[in-house]
Amino acid sequence: MTEIVEKLYRGEFLSDSELKALIETDDQQAAELLKKYAVETRLKHYGKKVFLRGLIEISSYCKNDCLYCGIRRSNKEADRYRLSREDIMACCENGYELGFRTFVMQGGEDSFFTDDFLCSVIAEIREKYPDCAITLSLGERSYESYKRLKEAGADRYLLRHEAADPELYKNLHPSEMSLDNRKECLFHLKELGYQVGAGFMVGAPFQTTEHLIYDLRFLQSLQPQMIGIGPFIPHHNTEFSEEKGGTLELTLRLLGIIRLMFPKVLLPATTALGTIAPNGRELGLMTGCNVVMPNLSPVKVRKKYDLYDNKICTGEEAAECRGCLERRINSAGYEVVSERGDCLI
Ligand code: SAH
Repeated sequence: MTEIVEKLYRGEFLSDSELKALIETDDQQAAELLKKYAVETRLKHYGKKVFLRGLIEISSYCKNDCLYCGIRRSNKEADRYRLSREDIMACCENGYELGFRTFVMQGGEDSFFTDDFLCSVIAEIREKYPDCAITLSLGERSYESYKRLKEAGADRYLLRHEAADPELYKNLHPSEMSLDNRKECLFHLKELGYQVGAGFMVGAPFQTTEHLIYDLRFLQSLQPQMIGIGPFIPHHNTEFSEEKGGTLELTLRLLGIIRLMFPKVLLPATTALGTIAPNGRELGLMTGCNVVMPNLSPVKVRKKYDLYDNKICTGEEAAECRGCLERRINSAGYEVVSERGDCLI
């Protein structure tokens, strides 16, 4: 098994059967080697730097009904909110003081956030914080909309493809949602010059190793600047409430593989990873991750952006989160930097 890891480290192409063997192996030596090479690769390109992204969860209203997601429209128990322009600007001000140089506006697909409104908020952030990157994560929009948001000053867009295999996608989403459209959005975003983040959940219901390989192949064709993966975690008000969640082991395995397949990619140690294990994000950093996304949302709304059960960091102020994360990052042997943290590709 270690030969497969060596091959991946050398940048050689792995066949589907080699990838399957590596994803599924319980060979400890191979798992350790994968971790070691993932760390070497991140050190070679990014040194010990960890980039922070200040996450501002702007709305929990969503027109979509993704079967796994706690803020899906059919969850009638969800307590919905949306932030005002003033709320968003206050988050940025707080974040800037704390050293954040990327702001991520994420939310459900909420038609309240028109292009006009978003463009004016983006333009205001751009003007007040010219040294910061502006990232959006607002789901599927039209080419025209993405174009206007880019022209207003957005730099990056995160849109996980969720499941590249059409069968799995169908099992996780209602029939009115289209995988082809989601993939097309990602290619549009790239074409428009955004730095793009794609990704998927690990251990989602019905997901097999073959599906994961499909995800990796899709990422190879897209070549995104960032890849966001985290374990699936059941939410009590969804029909997947009784399903098993993704495991720490499999998530770390995939993080290591992704770091070697995409040496220069930005790879976040996600909140979901920190939710399934107390030191999940530290372990992610020790397996090739180089980004963390602390929560900058006002404390009064944090519990309402309820994607999955037991989400961490929903009670603290941004400054506390920042301090806590810095300690965690240092304990993993890395250092927080106050930079935009653009991708090297
Ligand atoms: N509306 C935006 C943002 C979605 S929320 C969009 O469509 O991109 C951000 C990510 O949370 C999703 O892409 C999904 O992969 C993840 N997520 C949602 N529900 C989850 C769950 N139950 N467990 C783990 N991750 C989940």
